[in-house]
Amino acid sequence: MHSDSARLLLRDRELLWHPYASLTEPGEVRLVTGADGVHLELADGGRAIDAMSSWWATVHGHNHPRLNQAITDQLGRDAHTMFGGLTHAPAIELAERLVALSPDGLDHVFLADSGSVSIEVALKMALQYQRGRGRPRRTRILALRGGYHGDTFGAMSVCDPVAGMHAMFSDVLAAQLFADRPPPADASAEQVEGWSEGFRRLAGEHRDELAAIVVEPLLQGAGGMHTYPAACLRVMREVADDLGLLLIFDEIATGFGRTGTLFAADAAHVEPDLMCVGKALSGGYLTLAAVLCTSEVAHGLAASESGVLMHGPTFMANPLACAVAIASIDLLIERDWRLDVARINHGLRSGLEPLRTLPGVVDVRTLGAVGVVQLDHPVDIAAATDAALAEGVWIRPFRDLIYTMPPYITGTPELDQICAAIGAATEVAR
Ligand SMILES: *Cc1c(COP(=O)(O)O)cnc(C)c1O
Repeated sequence: MHSDSARLLLRDRELLWHPYASLTEPGEVRLVTGADGVHLELADGGRAIDAMSSWWATVHGHNHPRLNQAITDQLGRDAHTMFGGLTHAPAIELAERLVALSPDGLDHVFLADSGSVSIEVALKMALQYQRGRGRPRRTRILALRGGYHGDTFGAMSVCDPVAGMHAMFSDVLAAQLFADRPPPADASAEQVEGWSEGFRRLAGEHRDELAAIVVEPLLQGAGGMHTYPAACLRVMREVADDLGLLLIFDEIATGFGRTGTLFAADAAHVEPDLMCVGKALSGGYLTLAAVLCTSEVAHGLAASESGVLMHGPTFMANPLACAVAIASIDLLIERDWRLDVARINHGLRSGLEPLRTLPGVVDVRTLGAVGVVQLDHPVDIAAATDAALAEGVWIRPFRDLIYTMPPYITGTPELDQICAAIGAATEVAR
């Protein structure tokens, strides 16, 4: 490796935290010198397919001319202006697109600066809504075991209470209510019915304390890549309606086609009261998220004592982020993402299914452009990463999971390469 790269990596170790990492005993990190299409260029001369879409965000790949152009054009007009008292076309045009594409009834938009913040805002909206509707004691949130909604305190409070960060912060986290994780996607009608009964009963027992239900529809991502039946979403909708709760869908991971429908909600024909999007919203270029809500929610929270929604980040509706999000959404619609996602699903299915017979593999599952191999023990992440990189593929396993969420532009030979790399990683990780 070039001595300059070695120097940078040394400084990285001294100065920087990486996600969920120790500063004093950091894991290995690799220096990226460029990214183009589905590929990352690494300082050691290697090139690797970004089979993570850089944490599920770069659906069109890296360095896309249309996305680059959208940012460059906006940069010449206005990189950032405050959103208090001012507005701009990129925010308005992005909101128009989001409202047009999202499930019916979601007609109003709050632009947040990250997925976690959008969850904070959605929870705050739900609490203000219940106050506005004269139910101030409804302050708790019903979430699912195995869920992940972000790293800020409100978001942490609705993450899985065991695998999440509850243990360390139990004294400071809001005490939310947790329902069982829904059964797997291939569950029988009886299993779904069993889960539904438990969910209904728990919600009913706590109806006077509950403000909202928050869930990742169809796919629980960072909490375990767990897929579950659309029927469970319809049960949640019924329970929310029966008990006067708001239904919040966290589509930060699932939004924009990843699971095979534009939003996971579409697969169940369920319309939530609030929906959070992020990650792929900006095509993976800039940090941006959004909360969409119904007019009922908007008017309800306006009737709370403050009258206003008590949130407003400094970089709210950043024009560069909005401009690239507009371009990304337009590209998605033009590209016929449905065909891409179906093709990727087919490639992942045929490439990963044979791994099921390897010792130590307990499950192989795919949903849309997501492919998961689950082991019966925690993955040796360093060994699995090295094995995949030797095959020219960048993956980032966690817990007992080796998985891919490739960019939608990933071609068939590259899909084969990703599956081979996951196979190699599985071999060394077992
Ligand atoms: C990533 C993620 C978040 C948090 O988003 P950040 O932008 O990392 O704050 C929340 N919910 C889900 C489902 C996610 O996948």
